Amino acid sequence: MNIILVSNKMAKAKSLSVFQAGMLVAALVLVPVLLTLLFITPKSNIKEQGMKALLPPHLKSSIISSQVHLDAYAKELGELQARMMRLDAQSQRLAKLAGEKDKQGTAPSNQKPADSLLPANRGGPLINAHPMTETDLQAAILELTQAVDARDDSLSGLEAKILQQSVLKDMLPNSSPINAAFNSSSYGWRIDPFNGNKAFHEGLDFTANTGTPIRAAADGIVSAAERASDYGNIVKIEHGSGLETRYAHASKLLVHVGERVVKGQVVAEVGSTGRSTGPHLHYEIRLNGNALDPRRYLKN
Ligand SMILES: [Zn+2]
Repeated sequence: MNIILVSNKMAKAKSLSVFQAGMLVAALVLVPVLLTLLFITPKSNIKEQGMKALLPPHLKSSIISSQVHLDAYAKELGELQARMMRLDAQSQRLAKLAGEKDKQGTAPSNQKPADSLLPANRGGPLINAHPMTETDLQAAILELTQAVDARDDSLSGLEAKILQQSVLKDMLPNSSPINAAFNSSSYGWRIDPFNGNKAFHEGLDFTANTGTPIRAAADGIVSAAERASDYGNIVKIEHGSGLETRYAHASKLLVHVGERVVKGQVVAEVGSTGRSTGPHLHYEIRLNGNALDPRRYLKN
């Protein structure tokens, strides 16, 4: 018996022997069965059995511990990338502000434009073309740490420039909102006390007893006096030119929306409402909605 196969395209006939036809049928039937078996069999078992067969137990445990190392590095790298992205956004805002000042003719003409003070922008999601080794990760973390440090330096310079602007200088909320010491490491990147992850904390925390008076840091108009889930009882004051201060976790609010307040006026009392671990004032200064480092303003 011969099976004749005809290809439409080539219009060319091929004849197969009984043996060849048998092999073809066997292949067509067996291949799907084999593939099905391969997928049904748990892969982890094959992998694990393979590893067990190949590796002594002490090597197996060292592979698991190096995976733990890699996970820790990957987490560190992710946090650094988040820092970089935040710095990128901040540097763009500051460069714009400094650039506007330059346009007013207050800067010498031979001065470099503000943008050139900054390293090229980086950031964005991490996309790995290949699985990273521990050495790759160490190198990437080192590179990012250096970039973050460099960016921090250039931002400090730009920020100092902006502080010297007379328009802001006159309106800066520069008086302390409370008669208490602040926790200087509270502003910036820190371990979140609630979930243990590194996060940017946008305010400065002053530890004080419940009921301690909270005072307006500058003249302004109350834009909010309300209860929020994270901030707890909060007062927000607008000072003009996009400057705003926020006073959070209060036990008592003593002002209402639309009220005009003067520098030093008591607007609320310290408490521990909202996302708070104990009585303290969480104080923020924002410029066009973006958090500024309050320590720089309190020094003035
Ligand atoms: Zn806080």
